[in-house]
Amino acid sequence: MRWKTTEYAGWGRALRATGDLARPERVTALAALMGESPAPAIGNCRSYGDACLNSGGKAVQMLRLDRIKGFDPTSGIVTVEAGMQLGELARIFAPQGWLPAVMPGTGFATVGGAIAHDVHGKNHHGVGSFGQHVRALTLIGPDGQTTRITPDHPLFRATVGGLGQTGVIVSAELQMLKCKGDVIVVTERRIEGWDEFLGHLDASDASYTVGWIDATAQGDALGRGILEEAETGSGLVTAPGRAKSVPFDAPGFALAPAVVRAFNAAYFRRVPQKGRTVVKPIQEFFFPLDRIRNWNRLYGREGFHQFQCVVPVDQAPALRAMLERIAGSGLASPLAVLKRMGPGRAGMMSFPMEGYTLAVDFPNRARAVRMIADLESDTLAAGGRIYLAKDSLAKGASLRAMYPEQRDWAELVNATDPDGALATDMIRRLDLRTV
Ligand SMILES: Cc1cc2nc3c(=O)[nH]c(=O)nc-3n(C[C@H](O)[C@H](O)[C@H](O)COP(=O)(O)OP(=O)(O)OC[C@H]3O[C@@H](n4cnc5c(N)ncnc54)[C@H](O)[C@@H]3O)c2cc1C
Repeated sequence: MRWKTTEYAGWGRALRATGDLARPERVTALAALMGESPAPAIGNCRSYGDACLNSGGKAVQMLRLDRIKGFDPTSGIVTVEAGMQLGELARIFAPQGWLPAVMPGTGFATVGGAIAHDVHGKNHHGVGSFGQHVRALTLIGPDGQTTRITPDHPLFRATVGGLGQTGVIVSAELQMLKCKGDVIVVTERRIEGWDEFLGHLDASDASYTVGWIDATAQGDALGRGILEEAETGSGLVTAPGRAKSVPFDAPGFALAPAVVRAFNAAYFRRVPQKGRTVVKPIQEFFFPLDRIRNWNRLYGREGFHQFQCVVPVDQAPALRAMLERIAGSGLASPLAVLKRMGPGRAGMMSFPMEGYTLAVDFPNRARAVRMIADLESDTLAAGGRIYLAKDSLAKGASLRAMYPEQRDWAELVNATDPDGALATDMIRRLDLRTV
């Protein structure tokens, strides 16, 4: 297998790595490679920080292993190689009445990456996390051995949400969810403030819900935004146009506070006062940003950080205070999302907990970095946790305190990979394998 020295980055582009990447096309080549020189897997580098980086080391890029190995149209169980991207699965199967049960906000995430972070979607309150729909997975461990792992196997909960530390996920059997077709009916309404937003999220019985928040609005308008509630449907809508691309790193003023405030005010008014219902291709609802390739370049050469936390339901006032801190700083970008989560999680290091999750992007500036440190302390104090798929700044001690099963997980992982061959930059930065 050829290794190629490459510079690569997490989606936020604030953290980068240089190391040797291999891109196997066959499972036999992957197995041989793991037998000779075990290395962590990476998917499509859609995690924001350093979960997908191994500076100075090797990593196996899985994108070429993306075949569909089997599909049962009666049960909706599909067997796929781990490099398959979720948007592609949706594109193929939605017209046949099936969707991946859980889809994050980008269709470019791979099945392997979705398992390794136990990702959640806009339907987490109803169906739980990605790993809860994995019927089995095939893993090649750092010893080169291949094992089929079902939910009753001791390594299942260490692998789901397990940051690639038990081995390379080669393929998975996924239970998909029935859908009506490949269009989606979305009801959008303006929400005038924080309490109203939480009330609507709690009361919604829609299959899919997501809130966009204007993270620059203050005072009475704090927490204003747009709530989207959606159900799949069938019929014909105009296919999405060709993806646009950001061809260069944007200059610093592109996301200056005044620009963001003006953009957010206009975006808020995009939905009429009385709300509206629109029908669109599913991709436009599930993966709204995928239509602009390389949108991460809008943040310029320095990149950006996303802060995402979840807090328990009774800690909603603490989350409100965090939003106040963010809005007062004037540092937020337009990308800010509020969701209600249910309790579903499938791994020891899975992010979800029943509560509210807030995600906000910030340009990579010293002031933003300091504020994110404060938000990290606020999250810990509220009994919440920070999402590892988005993190590039947290401190190990607080992160480990947020994940109560971290020690048990680390014990299992260290027994499976005693030489630390699968450790990544994130594992080292946060000392996640410390028992
Ligand atoms: C625009 C955008 C929106 C997003 N929205 C959401 C959202 O709504 N909900 C959510 O939960 N997440 C969301 N994410 C985060 C994203 O879903 C996760 O970071 C996901 O893990 C990315 O998948 P990837 O294939 O790019 O993995 P990578 O980023 O390449 O890797 C992530 C982790 O998975 C491990 N890994 C990857 N492949 C394998 C494999 N085959 N075997 C073992 N380990 C592996 C890596 O070692 C690493 O630890 C979003 C990201 C973006 C860019």
